[in-house]
Amino acid sequence: MTEPDAAGDRAPEGLEARDVEADELERHAREGRVRPVVFKTPAGPPPPTHWADLKASERVAAVLAAGLPKFRAAQIDRHYFRSNSDDPTRWTDLPLAVRTDIARDFFPRLLTPIRVQTADAGTTVKTLWRLHDGNMVESVLMRYGVPGVPSSGSGRQRATLCFSSQAGCGMACPFCATGQGGLRRNLSTGEIIAQVKEAAKAAKLTNVVLMGMGEPLANYKRVVRSLRVMTGEMGLSARGITVSTVGLVPRMRELAAEGLPVTLAVSLHAPDDELRNALVPVNERFGVAEVVEAAHEYFRATGRRVSIEYALIRDVNDQTFRADALADLLVGHGRGTGWVHVNLIPLNPTPGSKWTASRPRDADEFVRRLERRRVAVTIRDTRGREIDGACGQLAAAERPGVGSD
Ligand code: SAH
Repeated sequence: MTEPDAAGDRAPEGLEARDVEADELERHAREGRVRPVVFKTPAGPPPPTHWADLKASERVAAVLAAGLPKFRAAQIDRHYFRSNSDDPTRWTDLPLAVRTDIARDFFPRLLTPIRVQTADAGTTVKTLWRLHDGNMVESVLMRYGVPGVPSSGSGRQRATLCFSSQAGCGMACPFCATGQGGLRRNLSTGEIIAQVKEAAKAAKLTNVVLMGMGEPLANYKRVVRSLRVMTGEMGLSARGITVSTVGLVPRMRELAAEGLPVTLAVSLHAPDDELRNALVPVNERFGVAEVVEAAHEYFRATGRRVSIEYALIRDVNDQTFRADALADLLVGHGRGTGWVHVNLIPLNPTPGSKWTASRPRDADEFVRRLERRRVAVTIRDTRGREIDGACGQLAAAERPGVGSD
């Protein structure tokens, strides 16, 4: 681009570049933008139990307990999980009295839309949802290849939902808007599934990605149950489902053993512990080598190519030496290149952030360095950026406080 090169641009190997980054990061820390990592979610009233929270056997038990014949469970399943309607009063093959009863007992309203924002001629839609206890989450529906809408992109028609697994997030990544707000609480399975249901009303979903608010593997049980509901009852293909993690190694191993061939995305963002400790604080617990090894194990167990997410941050993690180090790391230990795909995400700066996206020429060079090593790599589009709907911009929980200090 046109701006003059900063001193740190293209810093040669070694210490000098690292010193520049260390100063930058320290400044961030001093400004109070680095929070502690939090796993425990604060206690509060649990969300009301929903049909989607119950296991198949519990659903049958529930209809029997309500004095209904067993087959009603399968009928309700078909309506909620396979149709576009989530309003039991309209499920007319059920007797009227049954409809009212089950609506009251099993279908509490879990999500109330508070604000809807659109971009790309209406093909990107971000919704802010209020939960029963006043907490907020966001989800973003992106439709692609919509006829007559050039801004939706080309290719076959498809729709991706980016949705949330927690209200807030405890992982405290300093470049992520959600991470700045801290963790409010885990979502229930019903609340996770309800986001998918809502989106399915608007579009036929081809991909669903747990890349909204929260760390999915920190809400492991409910997320895995949701994945089972999505691939089972709802009939979504596991191939179209992506779970993105900050790299909680024990949980990555557990997920590999679940027999759910969903795609795993790992948010790496740096190939060295020194920098990753600052960008992804939980790295202090599970370091780069261990995270990449667990990602490779996931590939070996599931046959699914793993995505490595790497937000390109100008002069922080986008140097050529880091591109080379990333390639070394991924293909090292005889792993080869077939197991992995690198997704580069130009940083979406959060409000008040000192950091910004890489210069296009640095991003291009980063790509070239990986390609030279035959590592599959793409630069992710920044769809929804202008409505704060792109990666790392979801920050519903803290929005009322922004700019008021
Ligand atoms: N907790 C999960 C899901 C987070 S969101 C995880 O860490 O993977 C999905 C991706 O967006 C992650 O890779 C995350 O690091 C990235 N991200 C967060 N903030 C971002 C920002 N401001 N710009 C670009 N990517 C960002």
